[in-house]
Amino acid sequence: MATTSTKRPDSNNTQENLPPWTLQDFEIGKPLGRGKFGKVYLAREKQSKYIIALKVIFKQQLEKYRLHHQLQREIQIQSSLTHPNVLRLFGWFHDEQRIFLMLEYAARGELFKELRKLRCFSEKRAATYIASLAKALAYCHERHVIHRDIKPENLLLDLQGRLKIADFGWSVQSTAKRKTMCGTLDYLAPEMVESKAHDSTVDNWTLGILCYEFLYGFPPFEAETQEDTFRRIVKIDLSFPSTPPVSAEAKDLINRLLVKNSAKRLSLEKILEHPWIVKNADPSGTCREGQ
Ligand code: AMP
Repeated sequence: MATTSTKRPDSNNTQENLPPWTLQDFEIGKPLGRGKFGKVYLAREKQSKYIIALKVIFKQQLEKYRLHHQLQREIQIQSSLTHPNVLRLFGWFHDEQRIFLMLEYAARGELFKELRKLRCFSEKRAATYIASLAKALAYCHERHVIHRDIKPENLLLDLQGRLKIADFGWSVQSTAKRKTMCGTLDYLAPEMVESKAHDSTVDNWTLGILCYEFLYGFPPFEAETQEDTFRRIVKIDLSFPSTPPVSAEAKDLINRLLVKNSAKRLSLEKILEHPWIVKNADPSGTCREGQ
């Protein structure tokens, strides 16, 4: 139970020798969504009134998929990352059956719900998200946290519309979340679909895929079957539709990211210096709804 006024989800309570969190510290609100291993709820810490998202994971499910070690490692990594575009993990606790993750609340939910609603984003909005992703990934890479598995369902938005990478790495096991995404290859770099050695430049490739999808509403190598998507990726079978009209600078950035030779892909630093990003990205990293 919370006993002192300094115990807040967003401050380092362990260092101050405060009692560990329990479910009794929180008022539980509406469900925010459902993942493979349990549900996510809106929750409020009783003492500080601090709002969080509480992810409930059933231990039985973790055991079934032999993911407990992976979760432990990912909790360690995620809770050590503090960046405006990486979803914070404030802490965790457990009871007999469940593990509870105390996550930063992303009030506007999944970015891809907004994309599906609007069909495609404006260049300003797309550039703002790509810049946010590039900054978050640069921060992660500096800390030797690579390959963040930036799939679309892992991107959330806070109340101001700031993008938050929300994956835990172990989400590779939870594929069937978006029906249309089930087992998709769409976001994978050629070296990954061909099961070759790969490094952090797979993230740069994925930024090219996401940039295309933000602007056109569908990923560039989409096809009826996985085999066809595979062929299109390894051939870099890339074309730009005539509608919606997209600027030459945006296409230039995409062309510099969707490059087969991973060493030649634009670096994260260079993405941030690209004329399309410089011209369009909002320095605050925020986006209003419906833009
Ligand atoms: P997950 O178990 O991480 O796949 O989460 C399932 C769903 O819950 C997501 O698709 C989001 O819609 C929602 N959700 C997860 N985490 C948060 C969060 N921190 N803030 C708001 N919604 C979230």
